[in-house]
This record gives sequence, C-alpha cells and structure tokens, in this order.
Amino acid sequence: MLTIQGVTGGYNGRSIVKDVTFQIQEGEFFGVLGPNGSGKTTLLKMISGLLPLIGGSIQMIEKDLSSYSSKELAKIVAVLPQLSGEAFSYTVEEIVQLGRYAHQSGLFQSLTFNDDHIVEKVMKQTGVYEFKNKLLHELSGGEQQRVFLAQALAQQPKILLLDEPTNHLDLAYQKELLDLIKRMTKENRLTVLSVFHDMNLTALYCDRLLLINNGKAIKVGTPGEVIQEKLIQQVYDTQVKKHIHPIVPKPQLAIIPEKLNDDTMFVIDEKFLQRDEESLVLKSPLPLKAMSSAVINPGVGWFQTFVNRHVSKDYQCENHHEEMAEYLTAKGYPLTNTVGMMTAVMMEDAVWKYINSEGFSVFIVVTAGVGNAVDASRGVVHSSAYLPGTINTWIFVNGEISDEAYIQGIATATESKVKVLHDLNIKDPRTGTIATGTSTDSILVAATQKGEYLQYAGTIAPLGKVIGQGVYDCIVSAIKNSRTRMDMK
Ligand code: ADP
Repeated sequence: MLTIQGVTGGYNGRSIVKDVTFQIQEGEFFGVLGPNGSGKTTLLKMISGLLPLIGGSIQMIEKDLSSYSSKELAKIVAVLPQLSGEAFSYTVEEIVQLGRYAHQSGLFQSLTFNDDHIVEKVMKQTGVYEFKNKLLHELSGGEQQRVFLAQALAQQPKILLLDEPTNHLDLAYQKELLDLIKRMTKENRLTVLSVFHDMNLTALYCDRLLLINNGKAIKVGTPGEVIQEKLIQQVYDTQVKKHIHPIVPKPQLAIIPEKLNDDTMFVIDEKFLQRDEESLVLKSPLPLKAMSSAVINPGVGWFQTFVNRHVSKDYQCENHHEEMAEYLTAKGYPLTNTVGMMTAVMMEDAVWKYINSEGFSVFIVVTAGVGNAVDASRGVVHSSAYLPGTINTWIFVNGEISDEAYIQGIATATESKVKVLHDLNIKDPRTGTIATGTSTDSILVAATQKGEYLQYAGTIAPLGKVIGQGVYDCIVSAIKNSRTRMDMK
C-alpha cells in the first residue's frame, strides 16, 4: 500500500530524515515513534506530499507519490488536521463537509446527495452527528478531535496520516479515538500511519512500529520487537522497565523516577508484627513488592499491610472475598494497600522466625492446620467443598529480588511444606496416603526491594537455602502447636 524507499528530506537543503525505508500493508495501523526532534513530523510531511524529497522514493498504491496531482492525492490520503483558529467559527457539519472537497468536480460545486450521505455517515461513525449544528468552539477538545477525524474520513481516504492524534485528549477520549481508528483499519481496510509519543498507547494499538532517532530508522517491527528495554533506553537515554499489560499481550514501559528520599533502610522483622486472637498483622514502614495467593489483593503489587485473619471453622465462604474486604475496611486497613488471607487456625499457634544471612535476611511467619490435609497427586478423589485447616506462609525478604526469585521462593517454600507433611507422616484422610498440603493453603513472598540483589531462590541459592530451612522449621512448629491444642481438647 505504501512503500517508503531510502527517503531523505528536510528543510532548506538540510536533511533531517535520512535514508528511511519501510513498507505498510493495506489495513495496517502503523506507528512512528522517536524522541522529540527526531524527524517524525518531517517524515509525515513528506509522505503527505507537503515536503519534497531530497532522495529516495515513496510509492503509494503502486504509483509514485510525485506522479499524483494534489487533487488525486487528496482522494487517497487524508491528514488529520491540527486545530486551527479559523475553523472555530464553522459548524461541525460544515467542517466535515470540507472533507468532500477533493471529490467534487470543478470549482464552486455544491455537495451531491452522495456527499451528504457520506458526511452523515462519518459524523455518525465518529459520534459527532448529534452536535452537527454546533460551532466547533462550543465543543470539548475530545469532541473537536473527533470532528477533524470525521472530516478526514469524509474524504474516504485509503490512507490516513495522523500526527500525535491523542495530544491534549484525556484518557477516555484517547481510548475512544484510537478504538475508532483501529476499528476502521479492521472493518474498512483503512491504512493508518500515525506519529505517537506515548509509547504505551502505541504498543496497544499499532500492528507495527518504526522507531526513528536523529532522522534514521533504528528499528521496524511489531511492538514486541521494537519496544525493548535496552533499545528504548539507548534511543531516549532514559531508564525504563518493560512490564506486562494485565489484559492484552502487548509490551508496556514504566518510567523509573529519580529516587527521592526513599533510601530509608529498614528491616522487616518481629517488631512490625502484631498478634491478637483475631489476626496477625504486619505493617511495613514502606510498601513491599509482594506476590501472593491471598484472598484480598492476590497476584503482584506493592503493599504495606499484611493481614492473616482467624475465622471460625464454620465460616461461610460463599462470599468470602466481599466479607473479607468489609472486615479489613472496618478494621481500618485500606484495601488499596493491604494483602489479606484467612485461616481457621488459632493465632496463638502461629510461628515466626527471623533469619539473618550474608547481606540479606528473611522473616517467615506461618499458621498451619492440617485438618484439611490433601495429597495433591490424588486431589481428584476430593469434593471441592471448603474445609478448615490451612497452611498460610509469609516470607518477607530484606533484599532486592528478581521475578524468578519470587517464583522460585514460592516453589522452594512449597517443597519444604511437602517435606514437613512427609516427615510428620500427615495423611490425607480420604486416600490414606501422605498429604502434600491442604486445599486452601496460601503463600506470600514480599520483599523490601532494597539492599542486596538476589536473583535466585531455588533450593541451593543463598536465598533458597534460607527459605527452605526457615519455612520447614516454622511449619513443623506451627503444626505441632495446633496438634497439641487438638490433643488437649
Ligand atoms: P519530531 O516530529 O520527531 O519531533 P520534526 O520532524 O518536527 O521532529 O523536526 C525534526 C527537526 O527538523 C528539528 O530539529 C526541527 O528543528 C527541524 N524542523 C522542523 N520543521 C522545520 C522547518 N519548517 N524548517 C526548518 N527546520 C525544521
């Protein structure tokens, strides 16, 4: 659809864009990214025919750009116009009608029935039809942007060129505009080339990207190929970290702000833990990066308060998430900042241990009941009914740990738990075989993310050794505590 071959161009004989080559297929949403002043707008001006090329060629629908008359070009390519002062005294409908100009034959022709039909259709598509008689200045920024998009679409272009179309738009309007454009690429095979500076939006919407720097093409590819930590760091000379989008498989980048006064060192240990009959609560002075299977705020996040709450054996679990949220709120633990677990085990039987190692330390807190012991390899014979008796394990690491260390830490702790049940000969009452845990166990690994960097937590890594031994010891003691209580009954 569009072939840019060795394109060079700029102003007053000075090349800004240098030897850029890429191709765009029909129906593709193609994004151009690059630092300020890298030549994105200049490239767009050359593609829209506003700026002559110094070198190279641009093929548009199998014909060279230079062989199109401006009127011919306007039937194929539309450029989303930037806000201009004079447009403000026109009505929405009039502005959209201007988009039909390219299709009228001869000067001073009036719009045909077909033109009217197209104008109405694009106004409806872009959601501006309801205020077609309003003046542009009576509309919000997002609505104005949609009017200009309607004008561009009224041209019925094959190719739409956009320069930072979401500039000045709030979150909802950004999404709305880009959803609409994306839909047009899918449904109408519209080909879109857009300059962006918001990398995360670009990654979400574009099929492929061009990254340019100092006028040169650095990389062309899918968002996953182009938005790479190292590449973006080099080109923008800025520290960034790649992370996942929670819903769609597209890369996202997080900016890392300069550290301001948050170098306060602290060590998570017993002094931050409070216990009463109802709960165990650990309140950290600063948020910890946590990964857990908790009831409230499971998954990964930054949290400051960690609650393991005792509930009665007859606790009704149909709505346990909601009930637990109400409980935490009533107790003054903000849901945005709290990880919450529950157990029928008595809080008195909880066990904790602080283990200091070379350059880092670990604080482990466990509550363990095995009334609900299950052999995981034979879980199929069990019903799915909730039974009390749960092993809840908290592992706080005073150190900076990697993503793999979080997962390995959970695996190592689980291996230790399985070993405890084996060594204590705890059986699954249904199968008579040695149990591996209970059906409602929960685990948390949380780290200060300060101090020593610990990449691994497998069973023989320094951190893994501490977790393996510490979790084993704590679960053994906690099970013994709750068993002693049972025996005394
Ligand atoms: P970007 O869109 O990536 O921010 P531009 O293409 O707007 O970058 O600008 C690239 C370079 O071209 C800048 O150094 C800018 O100063 C220069 N430039 C842009 N427009 C003109 C112009 N009309 N005349 C001369 N130089 C220009």
